Amino acid sequence: MITYEGQLYRPPSEANSLILQATIGCSYNRCTFCGMYRDKRFRVRPLDELRKEIAWAAAELGAAVDKVFLADGDALVAKARFLEDVLVELRAAFPRLRRVSCYASPQSLQVRTPEELDRLRAAGLTQLYLGVESGDDATLERLDKGVDAEEMVRVAAKASAARMKLSCMILLGAAGRERSVEHARASAAIINRIQPRFVSTLVMTPVEGTPLWDQAERGEVDEPSVVELTREQREFVAGLELEGSVFRSNHVSNQLALAGTLPKDKQDLVNTIDEVLADLERRGPGRRRRPRSL
Ligand code: SF4
Repeated sequence: MITYEGQLYRPPSEANSLILQATIGCSYNRCTFCGMYRDKRFRVRPLDELRKEIAWAAAELGAAVDKVFLADGDALVAKARFLEDVLVELRAAFPRLRRVSCYASPQSLQVRTPEELDRLRAAGLTQLYLGVESGDDATLERLDKGVDAEEMVRVAAKASAARMKLSCMILLGAAGRERSVEHARASAAIINRIQPRFVSTLVMTPVEGTPLWDQAERGEVDEPSVVELTREQREFVAGLELEGSVFRSNHVSNQLALAGTLPKDKQDLVNTIDEVLADLERRGPGRRRRPRSL
């Protein structure tokens, strides 16, 4: 059978995928807002254990599996040879397999060479989820992402050069209220430079056990209201100049669920946000998303 250590996280679009925990935790584990892997010591699972789990899934689920997501937080950081071996096993086990994906931290993309990424793409790793979070250097530093916008663009370009599809996430509210406009504009600009196949927004929410939570407890987090977040989202979407990307804000954290294909649906998305914004503004001054004594 398949065993999972600790809480399991996956992108919304991997809801119907087989989840295989190739690595445990996140090798970086420093982003101030992220509480997903705080309780896990990062390590790569032994290949033999994974082989057994793949064999079990092949026997139990077989032809039903067409997508596999390699957990946990940045499986791409594992050695390329190990990942290739896992991909070979997956291809042999699941005849209908059409996609293998994983989260990629900027740090994991830094350590992978272009040749390794080419090999992994050829072996079947075709999609990476990259938490870009912001294009604003001050915000990236505050989040302790470990890279600035220029480096984020560089590592994303490595994945694109290997013809891996990128799914990039932007964190609304990450800059607080004061830098909201800068964050929205710089985030649109970085996404325009990366030109990912998929782009989505999440809303930053303090989670207990994280540095962000402690900052919020000390009154150092200036969380935008729903109206301010919606304005930020509008600024971000209006700034997108994409040549063929799917946009979604369907993560549970979002205040407004949107979906569309850009550039075709851009104006419709902006119009929808404007309608919601007008309605929210009619109702009066926005409240903070969560009651908090600042
Ligand atoms: S790289 Fe991703 S998984 Fe790791 S701490 Fe940052 S946000 Fe969390």
